[in-house]
Amino acid sequence: MNPLYRNDDPGIYPPSWYAASALIGAERAPLRGTEKADVAIVGAGYTGLSAALTLAERGLSVAVIEAHRVGFGASGRNGGHVTSGFNKDQQWLSRKLGDGPARALWDLAEEAKELVGDLCATHAPDARFTRGVMHGDWTEADADDSRRYADWLARKYDYRTQFLDGPEFREICRSPVYAGGVLDMSAAHVHPLRFVLGLATGAEAAGAQIFERTEATRIEGTTIVTPEGRVEAKHVILAGNGYLPGLSRPYAARVMPINSFIAATEPLGDRAAEVLSRDVAVSDSRFVVNYYRLSEDKRLLFGGRESYSIGYPVDILTALRARMERLFPQIAGVNIDYHWGGTLGITMSRLPYISRVAPGVLAAGGFSGHGVALSTLSGKAMAEAIAGDAGRFDTLSTLPVTPFPGGAAARAPLLTLAMTWYALRDRLGF
Ligand SMILES: Cc1cc2nc3c(=O)[nH]c(=O)nc-3n(C[C@H](O)[C@H](O)[C@H](O)COP(=O)(O)OP(=O)(O)OC[C@H]3O[C@@H](n4cnc5c(N)ncnc54)[C@H](O)[C@@H]3O)c2cc1C
Repeated sequence: MNPLYRNDDPGIYPPSWYAASALIGAERAPLRGTEKADVAIVGAGYTGLSAALTLAERGLSVAVIEAHRVGFGASGRNGGHVTSGFNKDQQWLSRKLGDGPARALWDLAEEAKELVGDLCATHAPDARFTRGVMHGDWTEADADDSRRYADWLARKYDYRTQFLDGPEFREICRSPVYAGGVLDMSAAHVHPLRFVLGLATGAEAAGAQIFERTEATRIEGTTIVTPEGRVEAKHVILAGNGYLPGLSRPYAARVMPINSFIAATEPLGDRAAEVLSRDVAVSDSRFVVNYYRLSEDKRLLFGGRESYSIGYPVDILTALRARMERLFPQIAGVNIDYHWGGTLGITMSRLPYISRVAPGVLAAGGFSGHGVALSTLSGKAMAEAIAGDAGRFDTLSTLPVTPFPGGAAARAPLLTLAMTWYALRDRLGF
């Protein structure tokens, strides 16, 4: 089953608050006939468009092929958290790769957040890049771990976050469930769809061509084949993340699509301060992570549910509302104006897969919930590698990502089993 078409109508943005609050331009023409370009890019999310912008600014010709619309994938519908580091902590990376390589990766992740900030300032000021992300811990043991890790980051990397005990945490995030957590004022949050739309405009202004409603159905060497045409290129970048069906075997063996869901309440007005007293984004220590923040019109944008089959569950909202109201009983019964789902790519290690998957073909995906910053940087790194400077690409390629057991065919049932077990542990509270 193709995740590109399973849950959405072709070319129609999901019914999200983001789509309702962004200025979406007219549809771009699909590709018809043969185009020649230095680089063909599959996918117009952060990865593909950041690559396109970097390449076009360096004078290379670029054709971006997008099955639906710009930002139609995860980039236009995510939680908007621009997070620090990776899905594995730096101590894990140091043990696995050594202190030097782990530090080099941390430095790139730091750069990734600043890159998003800079790109928003230049191309999408309306995305309102805003500093401040909190991590909430459900148990004292988790909070102790967070305190120790905050100390470690300060000592080893001179990276400053603020550990908050339970009462301090609840001053800002007014949920009774948290035992403490960390405030990271270098991480940020954005309006994700406005950011990706701005990236597209910037890439086009620099000379990139974007074809919408055009699926890449096959790759022949470095030529992309589409239903009504082809792009004959010298290089290909695969930037389809969780939506990319089987265009590359090594990629499909390592990156698996899962779905995540978000609800947007009605505007809360003065009640918003009863939920969050500051304009910060929050995620927490649950395996199926809860992630939320306030919109500019004071809705609670609450994400907190996953599904592991390609298709969405029939009823998205009931479970999402239950999670939201467990965290914030003070807004129980509030109207939910929008809810939507999206597909993202995950890997075995939950670290992104950034690799040369065939001669002339680079791919990046599997950002596993850290993609706003890391996909934007990965696109730039792939573009730089093509332009002759592979430094960042080579460092990102050191992230350890192994194929799923059983490959693309058997991974889904095995992973579903494992994920369901961890999700059950969340519910049982251990
Ligand atoms: C609900 C949700 C919440 C999330 N929250 C966060 C968050 O708060 N913070 C965070 O850091 N990350 C979050 N993520 C993850 C993050 O959004 C992604 O990692 C990131 O957007 C990936 O960008 P991308 O450009 O690689 O992929 P996408 O944005 O998914 O773009 C891929 C594009 O490729 C196109 N495509 C795929 N295959 C083809 C083909 N064959 N032909 C043509 N086009 C094709 C698709 O249509 C799609 O538009 C979330 C994801 C979801 C779904």
